[in-house]
Amino acid sequence: STIGADLLATVARHGDREALVDCDSGRRWTYAQLKTSVDSVALGLRRLGVTKGDRVGIWAPNGAEWVLTQYATARLGAILVTVNPAYRSHELRYVLQQSGVRTLVAASSFKNSDYAAMIAEVRPQCPELVDVVLIGEDSWDSLTDISADPALLDGIEATLRPDDPINIQYTSGTTGFPKGATLSHRNILNNGYLVGELINYTEADRICIPVPFYHCFGMVMGNLAATSHGATMVIPAPGFDPGLTLEAVAKESCTSLYGVPTMFIAMLNHPRIDSFDLSSLRTGIMAGSPCPVETMKQVIERMGMTEVSICYGMTETSPVSCQTRTDDSLERRVSTVGRAGPHLEVKIVDAEGATAPIGVTGELCTRGYSVMLGYWEQPEKTAEAIDAEGWMHTGDLAVMDTDGYLRITGRIKDLVIRGGENVYPREVEEFVLTHPDVLDVQVIGVPDDTYGEEVMAWVRMRPGTAPLDAESLRSFCSGRLAHYKIPRYVRVVDDFPMTVTGKVRKVEMREISIRELS
Ligand code: ATP
Ligand code: MG
Repeated sequence: STIGADLLATVARHGDREALVDCDSGRRWTYAQLKTSVDSVALGLRRLGVTKGDRVGIWAPNGAEWVLTQYATARLGAILVTVNPAYRSHELRYVLQQSGVRTLVAASSFKNSDYAAMIAEVRPQCPELVDVVLIGEDSWDSLTDISADPALLDGIEATLRPDDPINIQYTSGTTGFPKGATLSHRNILNNGYLVGELINYTEADRICIPVPFYHCFGMVMGNLAATSHGATMVIPAPGFDPGLTLEAVAKESCTSLYGVPTMFIAMLNHPRIDSFDLSSLRTGIMAGSPCPVETMKQVIERMGMTEVSICYGMTETSPVSCQTRTDDSLERRVSTVGRAGPHLEVKIVDAEGATAPIGVTGELCTRGYSVMLGYWEQPEKTAEAIDAEGWMHTGDLAVMDTDGYLRITGRIKDLVIRGGENVYPREVEEFVLTHPDVLDVQVIGVPDDTYGEEVMAWVRMRPGTAPLDAESLRSFCSGRLAHYKIPRYVRVVDDFPMTVTGKVRKVEMREISIRELS
C-alpha cells in the first residue's frame, strides 16, 4: 500500500475515533477530520504546483501542522524532506540545495530561533526553492482555505507506487556530516505498521510522541504506527520538556510513551513524577542509543510500562531492524535490542565480511523491505553502505546469541583500542553507572603516546554529590574491571554534547577532550 491509501483505509474503519491531539494548542482531530485537514493542505500544495516526486521541506518543531504536511505530501506523492529543527542557516541551505526542495513549509520561529530570517538569508542561494509557507501566518492560512474540490486528489493515488520515494531524512550527524536517506512508502509504512504490531497496537492505543517528527522515530514509529493501526497520536508541547510530557500522558490517558534513554532519565528524575497519574501506560518504545539497565528497570517499575520495547535501527533502515518482544524477559529487555523484526534479516560479519560465529562481536548488517532506496544523489555513499546482495552495513558493533537476540556493543567509530586491547565504551559505561554518585556517563578514547588511545569518562553527578576525580573512580573500578578498561581521565560535566535526536556526540566530546588534554 501507499501511505495515502493506508490513511484512507483507516479513515474508513475508524472515522469517528480520535486521530490527533496537539496538547500545546489544545486542538483535536478525529480520523474523519484529519482527512479533511490533510486534504486541504494537499490541495493547497497542489495549487502551488507541487506534484509527484517534488521535494517539499518541513522545518518546524512537533505540532499538528507537521503531521498534516506529512500526510498531505504522501497524498500527492511528493517527497517530504524533514529538516532538523536545530539546524541553523548553514545546515538549512545544505539540505535545501542537496535535496532540491521546491516548497518549504516552516515555523516562522521557535524559542530563540528566527526561522523566517534564516530562510530569507539562504533563499537567494536556493534557486529551486519556489515557495515558502509559514505555519501560523497568512501563507499557511491561504494554503489551507478549502475552496478547491477534494475530488482533485482522487486521480493522484492511482499514479503512486509503493516503491516510489516519499521521504528524505538526513541522518542524525552523530558521527559526521548528515546524509539524506531516501525512503519509499514500502520502507516506512511497513516499518511503522510492523513496529506497532509487535507492541500490540490497536485503535484503543494513545501514543505520546515527544520525540522529534523530523526523525523516523517520531514520524514512522510514532505517526505511521498510529495511523496504520487507527491509534491516537498525542503530541506534547514541542521541544522536549519532561514535566509537560508526563502531564500529557496523564491528561490524555496515554497507553504508550516514546523516548530515547536520556528523555526517560529526565522524566524519571523529574521532581514531580509521582504526582502524575501514569496508570494508563502499558507500553512504549525506547530507542536510539543504549539504555542503561537501571533506567529500563525504573521505566518498567515506576512508570508502569510493563510491555516497553527496545528498538534498534537507523535512518537508513526506516528505521527499526531489531526489536524486543513484549513477552521477552526483563533480562532480555535490559541486555539486548531484541531480534530481527518480521520480514527482515540480520547478520554479524567480521572485518573480512565473513559471517561471525554466535557470540563473537562484529559489524551488524541488515537486509529486507526496510533498507532505503539510497542516499539522495550520493551513489558512491550508497554503494559503500549497501552491498551487492542488498545488505545494509550499519557501522555498529553487535553480538548475536543462539536465539538471534542482539547486543549492541558500540559503533565501529567509537571503539577504543588501548595498547592493542579493544575497549567497548558501553561496557565501561554500564560499570561506572553502578557508582552511587554517578547520574550518567559516557566513555571515549583519547589519543595517548604510550597506548595509542586512553580511556576517558565524562560523568554527570547526582545532585548534592561531590565531583568524582580520576583517582577515586579508578579505585572504584580497581579489581572489578580489567585494568586496561579503567578510565585514566575523568571530566565532570553538567551535560553531554547532544544531537537533537538525543544522541551523545562523541565526536565533539573527543574534540573538546583533546583540546583540554593538550
Ligand atoms: P550519522 O549516521 O549521521 O552519524 P546516526 O547514526 O546517529 O548519525 P541515526 O540514523 O539517527 O543517525 O541513528 C542510528 C544509530 O543509532 C545506529 O547506527 C546506532 O548506532 C544507534 N542506535 C539506534 N538504536 C539503538 C539502540 N537501541 N541501542 C544502541 N544504539 C542504537
Ligand atoms: Mg548512522
